[in-house]
Amino acid sequence: MRNSEIVVVGAGIAGLTSAAILSKQGLSVTLIESHTQSGGCAGTFKRKNYIFDVGATQVAGLEKGGIHSKIFDFLDIPLPEATILNPACIVDLNDGGKPIPIWYEKNKWIAEQEIQFPGSHRFWKLCTLIHQSNWIFANNNPVLPISNFWDFSQLFKALVPSNIVTGILVKSTIFDLLRICGLSKDERLIKFLNLQLKLYSQEDVYNTAALYGSTVLQMCQQPHGLWHLKKSMQSLSEALESSLRKTGVKIIFGQKVNSLNFDDANMCWEISANSKKNSFTYHAKDLIYTAPPQSLLKHLKDPLKRKKSYKNRLKNLPDPSGALVFYSALKKENIKQTSSNHYQFVSNEFGSLFVSISDDGDGRAPKGEVTLIASIFTKTKDWFDLDKKNYIKKKKDFMKKISLELESQFDIDPENWLHRELATPLGFQKWTNRPNGIVGGLGQNPDIFGLFGLSSRTPFKGLWLCGDSIYPGEGTAGVSQSALMVSRQILASKGIGNFNL
Ligand SMILES: Cc1cc2nc3c(=O)[nH]c(=O)nc-3n(C[C@H](O)[C@H](O)[C@H](O)COP(=O)(O)OP(=O)(O)OC[C@H]3O[C@@H](n4cnc5c(N)ncnc54)[C@H](O)[C@@H]3O)c2cc1C
Repeated sequence: MRNSEIVVVGAGIAGLTSAAILSKQGLSVTLIESHTQSGGCAGTFKRKNYIFDVGATQVAGLEKGGIHSKIFDFLDIPLPEATILNPACIVDLNDGGKPIPIWYEKNKWIAEQEIQFPGSHRFWKLCTLIHQSNWIFANNNPVLPISNFWDFSQLFKALVPSNIVTGILVKSTIFDLLRICGLSKDERLIKFLNLQLKLYSQEDVYNTAALYGSTVLQMCQQPHGLWHLKKSMQSLSEALESSLRKTGVKIIFGQKVNSLNFDDANMCWEISANSKKNSFTYHAKDLIYTAPPQSLLKHLKDPLKRKKSYKNRLKNLPDPSGALVFYSALKKENIKQTSSNHYQFVSNEFGSLFVSISDDGDGRAPKGEVTLIASIFTKTKDWFDLDKKNYIKKKKDFMKKISLELESQFDIDPENWLHRELATPLGFQKWTNRPNGIVGGLGQNPDIFGLFGLSSRTPFKGLWLCGDSIYPGEGTAGVSQSALMVSRQILASKGIGNFNL
């Protein structure tokens, strides 16, 4: 039995970041991770001579004032080496039109918008105004949704006058903004927005909250930008781990937490975990849970019997997507050159494919070769309801279909693949422990985003949620913001000042 003030479940970016902040603030922290390495959906794996990013391939928030940057400054650790993506992505609608480069330079992107989507400037201007208002608010570190007076006070402090105006749009969607701007029939613009929004909000124009969508549509441009990490995505987790080691966090790999119970006699949480051979128990006053909240139905079984409405809330969370991810490698000379590491294209079969190609010599493949990762969304239940034989057959079929799409889009000769493999929701479940391999948190529609989402504060004292199902949502930058929010709440609950960055 081991005691610490805080136990964090999960060493993805959310768990690593919250453990690092709280430990730096002097609390004793134990971090438990079921895998043998950190990173979760932003981790990597090795095959032959290649290092593949498991899920996340691009990072927001590394610029000065960005969330990773602010947290790394506070932790006093260097940011991982990275280059800005310019263009952040090239989007090919495969409609006979010119592919759309999403430029980093603001003016270049505004000019491109006018070329690609004539007459759309009012929509982009409106998104920019909403985003600017959102950004000041987000930088003031609000707590959302609010559950008590302290949360409310933080929300109130974060508000600026322009938020009152944008607040009117709290229940609006991106499609409502298009309608306001007279663009509700602009099919090409809607097609483009659908592709991009699905990546960041898991929803299309008709369902993405206007306040969320306006911001994610501006993340590729200065003063923000998306970044490509040198070596691999793992360098983000490795940097955070170095902070944990400096401040004495106990990091435990290879133990899966299987139940959480409140120990009434000692007034603390009892966390049970098991490795391949042994069982372990931990005690802590506060527990940060960064696995998807849907997993609480299994891990919090007994306490949930006393909180039926919370149990129902968890049960009725909307079904998130799963992902199929194709990991491959090629000689650089055997693939059509593109001017961006990221490419998104429309496919009749899959809707969209999002492709990330490594830089020659960036550490992911030997010199002269590149890794190519392509991902598509899939319904998780389509993969779990199969017997072994049909599962293997279906996986093989998808490998073939995805290969064909990529061969046609990037002029690849089928003989030239050096490596190919496919991860399905079953693989994601095994790798990240996410139930049914769900990825990317909750869809950011107006009923879920911000004020209406799942709170980091739970009805159970000392049990806190953090990660991509909690405000402000998915992505390494999003979960770092949620880690900062939960750390501030915990520190305030312990009376350790009003911590902020
Ligand atoms: C295919 C794909 C592409 C993506 N692309 C991008 C991108 O380009 N850029 C971007 O910013 N984001 C991207 N994302 C999203 C991003 O990766 C995630 O939102 C983010 O990494 C989630 O971090 P997290 O810490 O909340 O959760 P996770 O990464 O899921 O980490 C949770 C950790 O908890 C551990 N765990 C779970 N259950 C238990 C248990 N019972 N006991 C112990 N440990 C447990 C898991 O093993 C895992 O390590 C992508 C995601 C996917 C799947």
